[in-house]
Amino acid sequence: MRSFEYLAPSSLNELLEVMGDRAPNFKLLAGGTDLLVDLKHGPSGPKLVMDLGAVPELKGIEETPLGLRIGAMVTHSQIQQSALIAEHAPAMMAAAATIGAVQTRNMGTIGGNLVTCVPSLDSGPVLVALDAQVTVAGVHGRRVLAITEFFVGPRQTALAPDELLVDILIPTAMLGRATAFRKFGLRKGQALALVNAAASIAVDNDRIVEARIALGAVAPTVIRATDGERVITGRSTDDVGALREAAAVAVTETRPIDDFRASAAYRRELVAVGTYRVLEEALALATRS
Ligand SMILES: Cc1cc2nc3c(=O)[nH]c(=O)nc-3n(C[C@H](O)[C@H](O)[C@H](O)COP(=O)(O)OP(=O)(O)OC[C@H]3O[C@@H](n4cnc5c(N)ncnc54)[C@H](O)[C@@H]3O)c2cc1C
Repeated sequence: MRSFEYLAPSSLNELLEVMGDRAPNFKLLAGGTDLLVDLKHGPSGPKLVMDLGAVPELKGIEETPLGLRIGAMVTHSQIQQSALIAEHAPAMMAAAATIGAVQTRNMGTIGGNLVTCVPSLDSGPVLVALDAQVTVAGVHGRRVLAITEFFVGPRQTALAPDELLVDILIPTAMLGRATAFRKFGLRKGQALALVNAAASIAVDNDRIVEARIALGAVAPTVIRATDGERVITGRSTDDVGALREAAAVAVTETRPIDDFRASAAYRRELVAVGTYRVLEEALALATRS
């Protein structure tokens, strides 16, 4: 590993000041599960690495007047063990449980996962299905973005070089929303998603009044299958055929690739199956009396 300067700021203000002065010549270190691989094997190393571990403003899971706030430094294991997540957004636990192995989940953070912005990132689909927002900060202030605006392209987010991700917010209106997540890989554990899918559903008077379908690993970033969502919105909760129709339409909204893990045709099959299953599961949760 090349040598670099190491700083561990103890407040967000201190961190932002250094970021403003030194951008873009630094790297932020969260859990390090991705970054350390880059530091060891990447083509060029940063001059400065700033550890986010001592910044209190990036930690914690809490209820706020606007919704459930999850700090960027919250680990996947903390998500799996959080009573607040279990109560308000349990599909996040299901997604976290599929990320790597225990060691990866103990070190890896939700912020690091979102910032890597690989198409297959497993935290993404549930957050899109729950209409999450993210707060980003730089020396010039804070911005709040929809999670779908944060994902710009493969390994590319809306962060400017002098900005960082502070937290994620599940808006109050989406807390407790019936939501499901599925991941398909080549094996049951430690697998990159060939496809991951999430759906959230709200029902009223035996009708689906709102549905969100989110798909990962089948486009440059996690996407919403809005045409598929339209197919089921307004349909009766007894109309099981509607879910299959929506799943078939969702397939047409994806752009899967052929690679050594799977063909595009196989991934399209997984989108159809995965979308149907998450819709079926979310609908069952939404209609449970
Ligand atoms: C063995 C193994 C298995 C894995 N399996 C999975 C898997 O199944 N599913 C999956 O989705 N991922 C998987 N990953 C990828 C990785 O573990 C996750 O993406 C993890 O959540 C990254 O978080 P981190 O805290 O370790 O990020 P780091 O490695 O510390 O950082 C990753 C990147 O994000 C930047 N960054 C981190 N936090 C912030 C912030 N708050 N603001 C701005 N920039 C920031 C860093 O500068 C760096 O560029 C796996 C990794 C390994 C090594």
